[in-house]
Amino acid sequence: LSHPHFSSMCQMTTEWILSAGAGAAALPWLHQRLQLSLAKHRSLAGHSRMAKRLARWLPGYSLDETRFFAADGADAALAARRRAGFMRLAERLQAMAPQGLALTAQARESLPDLQFTGRYRVPFPFSELARRHLPLPAFWASAEGVRLHDLDGNPCLDLTGSYGVNVFGVDFYKAVMAEGAELGAALGPVLGGYHPCVADNVARLRAISGMDAVSFHMSGTEAVMQAVRLARYHTGRKKIVRFCGAYHGWWEDVQPGPGNPMPPGQVLTLRDMAERSLRVLRQRRDIACVLVNPLQALHPNRNAPGDSTLMGGGRHSEPATREAYADWLRRLREVCTERGIALILDEVFVGFRLAPGGAQEYFGVPGDMVTYGKTLGGGLPVGVVCGRADWMRRYRPERPADVCFARGTFNAHPYVMGAMNAFLRRLETPEVGALYEGLDTRWRQRLRRFNAGLERAGLPVRMAGLSSIWTLNFDTPSRYHWMLQFYLREAGVALSWVGTGRFVFTLRHSEEDMQEVLRRVVRACEQMRHDGWWELPPGTRASDLRWQGLREMWRAL
Ligand code: PMP
Repeated sequence: LSHPHFSSMCQMTTEWILSAGAGAAALPWLHQRLQLSLAKHRSLAGHSRMAKRLARWLPGYSLDETRFFAADGADAALAARRRAGFMRLAERLQAMAPQGLALTAQARESLPDLQFTGRYRVPFPFSELARRHLPLPAFWASAEGVRLHDLDGNPCLDLTGSYGVNVFGVDFYKAVMAEGAELGAALGPVLGGYHPCVADNVARLRAISGMDAVSFHMSGTEAVMQAVRLARYHTGRKKIVRFCGAYHGWWEDVQPGPGNPMPPGQVLTLRDMAERSLRVLRQRRDIACVLVNPLQALHPNRNAPGDSTLMGGGRHSEPATREAYADWLRRLREVCTERGIALILDEVFVGFRLAPGGAQEYFGVPGDMVTYGKTLGGGLPVGVVCGRADWMRRYRPERPADVCFARGTFNAHPYVMGAMNAFLRRLETPEVGALYEGLDTRWRQRLRRFNAGLERAGLPVRMAGLSSIWTLNFDTPSRYHWMLQFYLREAGVALSWVGTGRFVFTLRHSEEDMQEVLRRVVRACEQMRHDGWWELPPGTRASDLRWQGLREMWRAL
């Protein structure tokens, strides 16, 4: 999704104009606009408006059965091998899960969410045939340990991580949810007044976050909305800064690109880990807050990796080192302090996963506000903002009508607060403490061992990881990498709908579990290789594959 020639030309032009100096200085608006252009990442992810325009223009088309297997120009023999592999896999997946697939087909009719994920788990030209032949069941019957069981009794290794909620294993959350329900039972659905455990939750969260005040919400999205609203309220400024590729929930302001029908509003998307972005923060006077999702250290400036975007070539995440990302956050911290900008660390995904004190502790940099969610609800839905008292206040005594409103019916629901309390108390047990000991070293070693196993098997894939969150990179060009998610499912590995872009482990995965994951990934990859998806017509390069995609689009237009 990058357009290097176009953007480097733009950059050269803007740099030239900037260096002309006099003109730019005489026109502060122009100068500011040019600085902003220079601070954008050159990929489409860094240019929301352009990405939206392209998305509106991109024609839909499907590869028919003949072209599906030879989209890269494969000869008849290779296409036939792929077809045979595809049909065998289709038969096997359908035979494995008759009940799950029947219920999925029935539910899909009235579940747009299922229609969406079913369609977008693979690149759109391949989607129709993949949906017809490789349907995956959307239902699970039960979970225990590191396994999920589908409706037909197939056990799968659970690497969905429940979108990151599952840090300590499903059994932990089952116990926490039961304890939370017991604690909240006497109040039931009483809302508005608090269950007494709320006071304890607040005290524990203050200690963990190092902040003064806490507010409760119902999802990570809502927590981010509230943190941003408070930043705007207290600074009197409108603009928010997010970094290229970072996810902060699905509400308007933080999703300026495709996916949101509204034009990018008051959000500036800047390049991650770049001096030029700091320059923008230093120079502008209209920035209320900077949002950071520390998960971006795994793939700075890139969108969350999903199989639907594997159109050609491969996927390559080059993670920042812990030291380099910490250094970036420190510099960001300094500029924000200097300019009175709120630094919001969005720890909805990484909180409680990287360290007991989350990314603030892991990278050693404090925010002004921190958002949490996912795992903190102990298995129930939640969003939380912790912040310094001056940022968190929702009124001004001297201007009584000028308030910052944020109240939701279900905020601080007794059951959720009960489960959160059980979760937070368990964090202090020696058993959970032991899971955090040597965590970073352990997961680095695991990643190294895993990749050594992939290398030994001579496979063209490698994992990149940020602690227990991993992503699969492909070292060879192919238009079919997305097929791997189906081979993985056959091998008994469950991933979320984004596919091989996210392998989310729990801290409870043992060394044996990791070995088992490796065995299954190797088995799936070997089958993938055997069926010819990683073979290319002689002389084909990654750029040829991208051109093939563009030519198909042109024809479709
Ligand atoms: N921020 C981050 C960093 C997230 O990872 C997510 C969820 N993936 C959100 C916000 C939104 O949270 P929710 O899905 O609970 O609304």
